[in-house]
Amino acid sequence: KKKIAVMTSGGDSPGMNGVVRAVVRTAIHLGCDAFAVYEGYEGLVRGGDYIKRMEWHDVRGWLSEGGTLIGTARCMAFYERPGRMTAAKNMVLHGIDALIICGGDGSLTGADKFRAEWPSLLEELVSKGELTKDQVAPYKHLNIVGIVGSIDNDLSGTDATVGCYSALARICEMVDYIEATASSHSRAFVIEVMGRHCGWLALLAGVASGADFIFIPERPQPQDWREDMGNVVTRHRSLGKRKTIVIVAEGARDKDGNKITPEDVRDLLADKTEDGLGLDTRITTLGHVQRGGTAVAYDRMLGTLQGVEAVHAVLEATPDTETCFIAINENKIVRKPLMEAVQDTKKVAAAVDAKDFEKAMSLRDAEFSD
Ligand code: ADP
Repeated sequence: KKKIAVMTSGGDSPGMNGVVRAVVRTAIHLGCDAFAVYEGYEGLVRGGDYIKRMEWHDVRGWLSEGGTLIGTARCMAFYERPGRMTAAKNMVLHGIDALIICGGDGSLTGADKFRAEWPSLLEELVSKGELTKDQVAPYKHLNIVGIVGSIDNDLSGTDATVGCYSALARICEMVDYIEATASSHSRAFVIEVMGRHCGWLALLAGVASGADFIFIPERPQPQDWREDMGNVVTRHRSLGKRKTIVIVAEGARDKDGNKITPEDVRDLLADKTEDGLGLDTRITTLGHVQRGGTAVAYDRMLGTLQGVEAVHAVLEATPDTETCFIAINENKIVRKPLMEAVQDTKKVAAAVDAKDFEKAMSLRDAEFSD
């Protein structure tokens, strides 16, 4: 009987519980034993009660729960080989031969490293006398499948990550709240949203809420952005708009790579000198409300369909199968090579960090034209 474990790792995102529920129930439905690893890689390294057998009823009602009920953690030990060796030992002791990981690019990178090292980890455990040859014999290959859980929608190769539409909905809801008071007082609001290297949340929130101006990392602003934004805001005001909403992604920059902060934008909107806009301006940093709350229907659907597909991928894998993650492309749930997507994602982030924005843009464009 195959023993399949599911784990959530890295930053939490709405919809992760739907993934866990789908994996557990599909595994049981297909005649496997299901396990959950609590607290991400930390639980894998600690072993014992952190790895729990899951029954059908254990995940009842999980679709409508936010966050991740099996917990997530950043785990320093897993970055190092000894930590991964302990994790391998714990998996063998629990008889687990397949792992479905729902997390961001960091978690999936760790997963691939773990899979690649697996045979040598077991060899070392045997040579150190921590496990016997017989104990490790059934676990020649580690079968890993990834599902991308992230509010940032920052992984290449998939149209949406589990949680991104919930975060987007939350941001739009918050902007609606802010707009009511902004209109009443004729104020300007600068709203900072999450997304690290990826401007997806800021861009789509701007589109969905009709923001006046949006700053995202992938499209760094030219030197005259102040003038540009000033003109746009002035034009909108002259058309009778009583509120001004500017959305700033946390990674927003100008073309020299200088960070554009909500304070920079506020100072400009509030500038009371002769050429300034002189608007009564407030900053709202949305922070963790963007992660919180329950998953929207899309993320429940995505988590469920991907969880089901992940179990099928595990059961169909052979030792030669490339490690995959479950993506959604043009509304189809598909399996794709894991490391390619992680590497493409890192390339964009590295290009942004190196201020090579043209390269970053062309990488993103290539992704969109895929
Ligand atoms: P995310 O998965 O959301 O990108 P992190 O980058 O913090 O979040 O990764 C979550 C966890 O995955 C880390 O705490 C660590 O245990 C593991 N991890 C991340 N990157 C690696 C890596 N390169 N090698 C091994 N483990 C990693």
